[in-house]
Amino acid sequence: MSVSIFELFKIGIGPSSSHTVGPMRAARQFIQEADGARLLGKAASIQVDLYGSLALTGKGHGTDLAIILGLQGEAPDTVDPDRVPFIVAEVRNSEQIQLLGRFAIPFIEDSNISFYYKETLPEHPNGMRFTLLDSAGKALKTHEYFSIGGGFVVDKDGFKTDKLVTDTHKVPYPFKTAQALLEHCHKNHKSIAEIMLENEKAWRSEAEIRQGLLVIWQAMKDCIERGTEGEGILPGGLKVKRRAANLKAKLLAKEAEDSSIKDEMNWINLYALAVNEENAAGGRVVTAPTNGAAGIIPAVINYYMNFVKGANEDGIITFLLTAGAMGILFKEGASISAAEMGCQGEVGVACSMAAAGLCAALGGTVMQVENAAEIGIEHHLGLTCDPIGGLVQIPCIERNTMGSIQAINCSKLALMGDGVHFVSLDQAIAAMRQTGLDMKDKYKETSQGGLAIAVNQPAC
Ligand code: SF4
Repeated sequence: MSVSIFELFKIGIGPSSSHTVGPMRAARQFIQEADGARLLGKAASIQVDLYGSLALTGKGHGTDLAIILGLQGEAPDTVDPDRVPFIVAEVRNSEQIQLLGRFAIPFIEDSNISFYYKETLPEHPNGMRFTLLDSAGKALKTHEYFSIGGGFVVDKDGFKTDKLVTDTHKVPYPFKTAQALLEHCHKNHKSIAEIMLENEKAWRSEAEIRQGLLVIWQAMKDCIERGTEGEGILPGGLKVKRRAANLKAKLLAKEAEDSSIKDEMNWINLYALAVNEENAAGGRVVTAPTNGAAGIIPAVINYYMNFVKGANEDGIITFLLTAGAMGILFKEGASISAAEMGCQGEVGVACSMAAAGLCAALGGTVMQVENAAEIGIEHHLGLTCDPIGGLVQIPCIERNTMGSIQAINCSKLALMGDGVHFVSLDQAIAAMRQTGLDMKDKYKETSQGGLAIAVNQPAC
């Protein structure tokens, strides 16, 4: 299996990569395949069944809206977040959906989308089934998909063949473990970022990779900017107040009073809050490697740009390539799905990726980078996913500030050492996988445990 860095860092919309981006991609894929088989003209209705975590936290995570958008042919990276409420309102008011924007059929959300709260498909906790029916009620096409985290989608065959991503590109330096990655680095006298760059050339030219990564960074930066201006209450019913704009005003006022004051830590908090409030509002974000944890990498890169002397675009490229390599290791060795791993698979992984990325951008050796990544996940093991009301708001938004600060500290700690450390990154990833498997389902994106029930809020 080959995973491109542009599969890990995807421009999309909030609030969730597994519950919004993945289902939207699955719905679109299903309907495109039906179109390819010339079935849409014969369709009279469509049935969508959501299982497990997709059912339990689907409404809070916007899965229903994502399905509607995907069936209409919208894609997460191109849909205009400001148009989303209008597209969905049109479907709801007209009680009709335009499959791929071209074939109108009746659609009443409450009957055409079913939530199976107590059932899980055997392959994965985030399962969904699409069935296209003709006017006699006969199935024209039916297919099951699984949203496996970070916006990645596979079908049953993907599980059967153990090929999570059906990409057959051959990369010069394949790796599934940190050990294999480090061996490539040592043998070829290359950094982790250089190995990733060579692998990435299997898909595109060096100029395109550089340009693409800078586009990703620009989207992250834009998200921070928008997030620091957004005010009011986040959608979903919890009445969570957006805080980033107020925090920014306070920081600027403090600095206006005394320009020698630079409250570094609160600026980092601000960057992460801004992104995750934007995500919770359904805005444009970069999945990195998930939406719930989308604030950490942008916050740490922005810290690098604003607070590190000599920071430049080359450093950003090194950061993203290195962080991407770590993301691949977690995807291969464990999972980046909170429904499988809990929040250690989201915030923990993002922290580890950011720690490695920053360490590399600051000139860390290969061993120091691996050490930074290991510290990042080691101290997130067992982190539960327990979003209150099924919304990606509490604890998610603040949790990204913690992950960002922690990533910077991991990097600093690793840079003070020589890279020699007790627990290897592969061992930490294996521990994460086992911890995730041992965790009860109620702590894995079901809103049935932890904070989600401690404050007595019903799951949406
Ligand atoms: S608790 Fe963590 S894993 Fe769960 S939705 Fe929030 S950010 Fe994602």
